[in-house]
Amino acid sequence: MNTRVQISATPPFFKKGKEIVTCKNCDSEKIIDVSGKCSDRFNACLQNKDLVENDYVDSNLGIGEGDYMEFEYCANCGMIQGKFPLDLSEFEDEEF
Ligand SMILES: [Zn+2]
Repeated sequence: MNTRVQISATPPFFKKGKEIVTCKNCDSEKIIDVSGKCSDRFNACLQNKDLVENDYVDSNLGIGEGDYMEFEYCANCGMIQGKFPLDLSEFEDEEF
């Protein structure tokens, strides 16, 4: 019986069972998945116009929703992975 421990070829910084994704821009596998709970203390500005001020994360911004900011970005080129351009019509009354 072979009792040797199998060493995984997967680097330790990849989550077990999670599909390896590559950057949409540069094909790097160095994709960082971030999640931060900010509840109703989220702020977003477009230039000098407030889109969200001390409120929950707006799903129209493409970086999570509700209590959490969540997105993936490339440690190689910096590109946020997601669907862009965003539809900001939800904020039309903000006059930008
Ligand atoms: Zn990249």
